[in-house]
Amino acid sequence: MKFLVDAMLGKLTRFLRIFGYDTIYANELIDYFKIDPVPDEKLVDFANKNNRIIITKDYPLYNQNKDNVIFLSGEGIYNYLHYLNKEIGLNFKFNIKKARCSVCNSPLKRVVSKSSIKDYVLQDTYNNYNEFYQCSNLQCKKVYWQGSHIEDIEEKLDRFLE
Ligand SMILES: [Zn+2]
Repeated sequence: MKFLVDAMLGKLTRFLRIFGYDTIYANELIDYFKIDPVPDEKLVDFANKNNRIIITKDYPLYNQNKDNVIFLSGEGIYNYLHYLNKEIGLNFKFNIKKARCSVCNSPLKRVVSKSSIKDYVLQDTYNNYNEFYQCSNLQCKKVYWQGSHIEDIEEKLDRFLE
């Protein structure tokens, strides 16, 4: 399942990517379409052509395209993730091998030589971890590791999904 996440849901976009879901953020299409904000019909058209499900907080957008759009009511990232788990069975177990870059949505690849990422992470992180992954997009190259941050997220999620 691939997604197109509407404007105002930037945090959800980053979470979906981290949990391995191929996700485009509507604001990233502004350059592509050269219109800001991107009109609903263009988003719908783009999603249909690229086999992406739209996730939005915009009720009229949902109401006119129910087959291919998920509407999120309420507020808060854990609330949204809970809904996506219940409604379409998304699974939020973190697996760094399947994670995508939270910034640019590219797949990650394992870092073979730790010294190659020394300049991309803090000294403490470098010293405390041995397994790193890096965004495969050469313009981005963001570095990832299985740190306490993701464990906090998983713990909160577990509580929410119970
Ligand atoms: Zn990236």
